[in-house]
Amino acid sequence: MKKNLLILCLLLSFAVSVNAQKAKYVFYFIGDGMGAGQVLATEMMLAEQDGRIGYEPLCMTNFPIIGMARTYSNKNSVTDSAAGGTALSTGYKTTNGFIGMTSDSVAVETIAEKLKKLGFGIAVCTTVSIDHATPACFYAHATSRKMYNVIGNMLPQSGFDFFAGAGFRKPLNQDGTSIYDKVMDAGYTIARGLDQFYKYKANSDKMLLIQRTDGLEENKYESESSIPYRIDRKDGDLTLEQITRAAIDFTPKENGFFMMLEAGKVDWGCHANDLAAAIGEVQDLDDAVKVAYDFYLQHKDSTLIVITADHETGGLSLGCDGKYFLRLKQLERQKQSGWNFWEDLKKTYKANPKLSWGKVKKMISEKFGLYSEIKPSKEEDKAIKNCFYALTGNKKKIQHTLLDHPKYDMGIVLTQVFDRHAQCAWTTTGHSAANVPVYAIGVGAEQFAGWQDNIEIEPKILKAMGY
Ligand SMILES: [Zn+2]
Repeated sequence: MKKNLLILCLLLSFAVSVNAQKAKYVFYFIGDGMGAGQVLATEMMLAEQDGRIGYEPLCMTNFPIIGMARTYSNKNSVTDSAAGGTALSTGYKTTNGFIGMTSDSVAVETIAEKLKKLGFGIAVCTTVSIDHATPACFYAHATSRKMYNVIGNMLPQSGFDFFAGAGFRKPLNQDGTSIYDKVMDAGYTIARGLDQFYKYKANSDKMLLIQRTDGLEENKYESESSIPYRIDRKDGDLTLEQITRAAIDFTPKENGFFMMLEAGKVDWGCHANDLAAAIGEVQDLDDAVKVAYDFYLQHKDSTLIVITADHETGGLSLGCDGKYFLRLKQLERQKQSGWNFWEDLKKTYKANPKLSWGKVKKMISEKFGLYSEIKPSKEEDKAIKNCFYALTGNKKKIQHTLLDHPKYDMGIVLTQVFDRHAQCAWTTTGHSAANVPVYAIGVGAEQFAGWQDNIEIEPKILKAMGY
């Protein structure tokens, strides 16, 4: 009898200690547009670069819990980032375009707002503009993601401790007032770049960390849509890894914290059908996850890390044209994003209207290996040239092909052609309905194993935190 009682007491105390374990520190990573294919492409490319077929696991794919989430929105099989973000931030499915609101335009509290009230430190971070759909879904409520001013003005009202991103896409209100001024009036310090962050942090109550903009006077701000892609990165550009370190450094820890960290440009790379650019962003996200994982190793009994996506972008196919191989090693030949190449080319043409096709071909070969190591087919060659003819006002020379881009965007055509030679293909320049992966580790992570709907993720995180 005594022995049974002892076992019962031991079991009870074990149950109490298990129940008492709550996630005090939560990292919620969102790879915008990051489907399972984008993650696998990254792992298989790393293996090919290492001279083998297979995969090189990322930090996040090594996590013990793997699940899958469905992403459809309230009225569309294919979600946009606003409805996807709202599902992930509030646990409600809504109409595409809506931010933090149900389909009948009722504002719903986001996980960040709930936890702020409960005394947690809150950080909302992204690699795109801070008024963009995904970060907005954690602090704002609007019937359209395009209401950038409405959304931007809600940021200082949130009172969250730490924000980071490129800046504001629409920094000026219609009455000429600046959202940056409102942010500062609400007690935020604005740090432009990491140097300023480390200089100001000790004397700051709340912080907005944005991309450094060289050549601008203090208190002058430009519209900032995103931090450059990893593939185009220059010294001084922010990275999600640096942002994650700064967020951990700055956000109050006494009562625990909640951080949403978005890799916003996996999506942009996929919209542009640019696999090398998109893979760079997945790697960047994984570098940031490593920072959170180091934090987890120091606080194993009180930390939860969840990584997922709002949707897949691009309908990426690893394998095409009936071939049974990939040439992912080829991606290392690409030296610049297609978008950046096209922007540079347009500037070069403006400065030199006599720019010849021969010169452009040389530029393409330098940045993509196309026309030198990789030979485009006749159709591909025509589609690339058509973009050049459209740019230089020689539309008469255009010979239409099925590979033409409606706006003759050479950045997109080049990467579509380049990726096809790596035996990877894109089915859309928009989003797809594909399921997205969920990776988790830490307190309450087991809840994320297996199938789930995107609206189940927010309540599961709160449950892990004891709510
Ligand atoms: Zn998205």
